[in-house]
Amino acid sequence: MKRLILMGAGHAHLIALKQWITTPLDDVELVLVTPSRWQYYSGMIPGWIAGHYTIDQCRVDAEPVAKAAGAKLVLSSVVEILADDKKIRLADGDLLDYSWLSIDIGARTNLENLRGFTGSLLSIKPLGQFHQQWSRLNEASDGRVQHLVVVGGGAAGAELAMAMAHVGAGGAEADARVSLITGNQGLLPDFSQRLRKLTRRKLAKLDVDIVEERAEAAGRYLTLTNGTSLDPDLVMAVTGSEAFPFLATSGLAVDAQGFVLVNECHQSLSHPDVFAAGDACSRLDQAVKRSGVHAVRAAPVLADNLRAAIASGKLRAFQPRTNTLYLIACGDKVAVGSYGPFSFSGKWVWRLKDKIDRGFVDGFNGRSNDAGIRVGA
Ligand SMILES: Cc1cc2nc3c(=O)[nH]c(=O)nc-3n(C[C@H](O)[C@H](O)[C@H](O)COP(=O)(O)OP(=O)(O)OC[C@H]3O[C@@H](n4cnc5c(N)ncnc54)[C@H](O)[C@@H]3O)c2cc1C
Repeated sequence: MKRLILMGAGHAHLIALKQWITTPLDDVELVLVTPSRWQYYSGMIPGWIAGHYTIDQCRVDAEPVAKAAGAKLVLSSVVEILADDKKIRLADGDLLDYSWLSIDIGARTNLENLRGFTGSLLSIKPLGQFHQQWSRLNEASDGRVQHLVVVGGGAAGAELAMAMAHVGAGGAEADARVSLITGNQGLLPDFSQRLRKLTRRKLAKLDVDIVEERAEAAGRYLTLTNGTSLDPDLVMAVTGSEAFPFLATSGLAVDAQGFVLVNECHQSLSHPDVFAAGDACSRLDQAVKRSGVHAVRAAPVLADNLRAAIASGKLRAFQPRTNTLYLIACGDKVAVGSYGPFSFSGKWVWRLKDKIDRGFVDGFNGRSNDAGIRVGA
């Protein structure tokens, strides 16, 4: 029997699996390969740090989803793709053949400027590893972290700095000072001036120092572009994404950064039997921001195209939206947000974010059928 391997339980694959619960794929063995049954939902992790959620509220259990969709779950990481031979290699060395492969493995934190740092360093991705490290740190916390430095001036860096400062104002890291090193492009370079202003105000309210310099590791110190040296107790890296290196040696066409190159149908440019979605890929026809929103929106098209590929049918294109809603949690139950040219802030923005985020996770962990998955939600 022919085999479709889903590599990674990222957003697009979870939604595709959910779609196939009600409309199963015919004549194909479906296999999901992912290192853990837990798929963490990044948008809620700052809320977990801030104490608004338990970790189970922030993650999807991929096991019942795979089971309900008739997929075999293999808990392992893929370490190599041999695209010309239609095989993948798992962490234990086993090789798996595929007829079709779909890649939704996200990306890893780009640690380029922080390599060689000898002090305590946490990186936000993989989220499962970050969850364990942050939990351990909080269990062991005895005030040793006096100065926490978040490196990364994007939305995720700002959110994490505010969540951590919020906890520092009365939680496990009490009295810790939080600095946010944004890089030379400053805070939220991809967002409007008004959103930057709103976020800056929230950071200031939480006493987060904003340092608009680039940081580089120098032993246990961080050297900034202005020549200053910092000696933090803990560095949190939220320094953007980089492609997993094994993609570049897979034989698949990749872009200059090593992300899988796909066409508008999310099909590999070099290997028509391979598809990719989410942060792991780059579109040839247009630049699409690496964000969960686009991964989610691409999912139904990916699901249909995988079905079409199996049936030798016609593929359809995914058109990413020009404007998307971005919501940034500000530690307390307040958020700022933007949609196209509009920016806003307030408790209602947090409530909206909370509703959207919970809606996504609960749609998989709900109790509406035997598998616990809210089909069609
Ligand atoms: C703190 C934070 C907050 C964010 N908030 C938002 C937000 O509010 N809105 C938004 O749109 N974006 C947000 N993002 C960005 C968002 O996390 C990513 O764009 C999104 O997760 C990409 O989804 P994905 O499906 O491509 O991959 P991921 O969600 O990263 O999923 C990848 C999956 O692949 C698995 N995997 C990894 N390597 C392998 C391997 N070798 N073999 C098999 N499986 C593998 C992983 O375990 C995981 O299950 C945030 C990011 C961060 C860090």
